[in-house]
Amino acid sequence: MWQHERDVAVGVVRDAAVLAHAIEREIDHAALFKPDQSPITVGDLAVQAVVATRLAAEFPDDPLVAEEDSSPLRRPEARPLLASVLEFVRRVFPAADLEQILSAIDRGAGRPGRRFWTLDPVDGTKGFLRGGQYVVALALIVAGKVELGVLGCPRLSLSARDALAASGESPQDGGSIAFAVRHRGAFSAPLGMPGEVTPLRVSSLREPRAARLLRSYESAHIDVEAWNVIAERLGAEAPSILMDSQAKHAMVAAGRSELLLRVPARPGFRDKIWDQAAGSIIVEEAGGRVTDLHGAPLDFSTGRLLERNDGLVASNGVLHAAALSAIEHGVRSEEES
Ligand code: AMP
Ligand code: MG
Repeated sequence: MWQHERDVAVGVVRDAAVLAHAIEREIDHAALFKPDQSPITVGDLAVQAVVATRLAAEFPDDPLVAEEDSSPLRRPEARPLLASVLEFVRRVFPAADLEQILSAIDRGAGRPGRRFWTLDPVDGTKGFLRGGQYVVALALIVAGKVELGVLGCPRLSLSARDALAASGESPQDGGSIAFAVRHRGAFSAPLGMPGEVTPLRVSSLREPRAARLLRSYESAHIDVEAWNVIAERLGAEAPSILMDSQAKHAMVAAGRSELLLRVPARPGFRDKIWDQAAGSIIVEEAGGRVTDLHGAPLDFSTGRLLERNDGLVASNGVLHAAALSAIEHGVRSEEES
């Protein structure tokens, strides 16, 4: 199933992740800010243009539901940003022009229907700007379920061999791509070596005490106090890992962490679908489990937001029940708060 979709998605996310990495290295980053004060960069816009263009060519009838739109680029002060986006998109599509790029970006305003793609061009923009982790995240959703997910991770090495290469500061070797198709398993390959595909498998560790816990680097994105209470209730002794973006999901899938918890900073907060879709299928297909904080499966049938889900637990499976129980005792329910 989804063989052509997988090949296209893996191919374009690879190109996009290599491009994002080039942008990160070559540009002295001045970010623009969106009305909600979140940052937007050449990376977000160039990647969305590239992925949208390729998907439109291959699957013209599929809507794209993506994070960005072209409005920040249409402001007069965005001229230098626009020129830069054009320059980088042309590295992938040499014939691209400005109008094409703006309309490709705006394809991301598609309506989530029965079958659609969802994209976070740079998940972890704050990490991208800070030299931390970020990913290009693309998923195919059909009938409210993720069927295919791809994470392009320019700064995360997933194979042991690759981790060695990364220590030699060769970024092309250091990056990786992770992907999964429903019922077909999860895999990774070094970003620069498409042929070297190896299966991803979650950790088999069973003791909560030894569990390596992951959380957002940005403390404003989560309720740190509640997070700490849960970690304490679990009895986790290993130091927790702070990381931006769905690179965290890739870490769980690769067996380098047992548990990823996302406790929203305020009750009623709902994640965007593109912040969870690709990462969740990769964890599940690597043998792990993904639910919200109350044990409910993620429901991708509710539009651009995960309206029916509160936070996230992604685990190696064996530690999932212990995590849910620590949460039950450790966090406010939405009704109480
Ligand atoms: P992470 O690095 O795991 O915190 O995830 C990054 C994502 O968090 C971004 O792509 C945003 O969509 C999302 N985000 C931004 N601001 C917030 C916030 N205040 N609370 C929760 N998530 C946020
Ligand atoms: Mg994001």
